Amino acid sequence: MSSVEASSRSPASDPLARVAEELLLPLGVDGVHGRRAVYVEIYERLDAFITHQRDPACELLRFPPVMSRQQLERSGYLKSFPNLLGCVAALHGSEASIRAAADVHEQGGEWTRALSASDLVLSPAACYPLYPLAARRGPVQQNGLLFDVAAECFRHEPARTASRQQSFRMRELVCIDTAARALAFRDAWIPRARTLAEQLGLPCAIEPATDPFFGRVGQVMAVSQRQQALKFELLIRLQSDGAPTACMSFNYHLDHFGAVWEIGHQGGGLAHTACVAFGMDRLVLALFCVHGLDPRHWPQTVRKALSIG
Ligand code: ATP
Ligand code: ZN
Ligand code: MG
Repeated sequence: MSSVEASSRSPASDPLARVAEELLLPLGVDGVHGRRAVYVEIYERLDAFITHQRDPACELLRFPPVMSRQQLERSGYLKSFPNLLGCVAALHGSEASIRAAADVHEQGGEWTRALSASDLVLSPAACYPLYPLAARRGPVQQNGLLFDVAAECFRHEPARTASRQQSFRMRELVCIDTAARALAFRDAWIPRARTLAEQLGLPCAIEPATDPFFGRVGQVMAVSQRQQALKFELLIRLQSDGAPTACMSFNYHLDHFGAVWEIGHQGGGLAHTACVAFGMDRLVLALFCVHGLDPRHWPQTVRKALSIG
């Protein structure tokens, strides 16, 4: 997180702060927002626009905001991003012990000490639940697998700026196939995303990127990720003087998920995977930041792309 992101700016000087002020509702914790009607409407139109852009062969699946803790552990998430993970904790045990724990709150004490982890975590990205599902189908056929998945995601990265939320929506297109085809899928989406941003009137740059790996070991992982050109991001400037914000990412995972979930490919060897992620809330914020608060006054081309009558 940059220092620019960490500070809350005055709505008058900063389009993002103004958009957040007008279209989002504070829910008492940084990075968690309610959404007003016009925001929801644009979100839904953007979602439909993306549906028109993607390969119709994609199989559509939608996931809840929680997923299996065991599956996420097996995916290796704790090695890379332990700081971002939210785990669902609950009061376990007998009626008496649960009652006693809850009563601690009534007595002004800290009831949360009695919590223990459940078998759920909050999904940190939309594609994690997909790989074990794909694995159950057996070896990937010659023509590969394409999915369109989405989930409300959680990352423990509270910030004052609306562009970095703790709870946000992510939609992803995922390819599970040979190395060459997974990489080709990822690479083909880079120019497609550029065209998509153009249609939406969003000036952008697409650049090599790294995941926000945790700690000193993480820095080594990031260097290796960059050397192998595994990740790119589509960046849009949401604030006049801040760093641009990643609104999409294009990721090639090599055979990481193929190996973890033992997904073979009919052509031989392990399946490789790639995903293209749409940061849906960031894209909606970008539309309002760039074009203004009232969609009726947005450029005709953008209105057409989003079917705004
Ligand atoms: P960033 O570079 O901002 O830290 P990231 O590289 O961790 O994001 P990905 O893991 O690639 O992001 O997630 C896919 C997309 O989800 C991002 O490109 C972004 O648009 C969106 N996203 C990620 N984190 C957040 C967040 N905290 N709030 C809103 N959107 C987010
Ligand atoms: Zn993904
Ligand atoms: Mg990033």
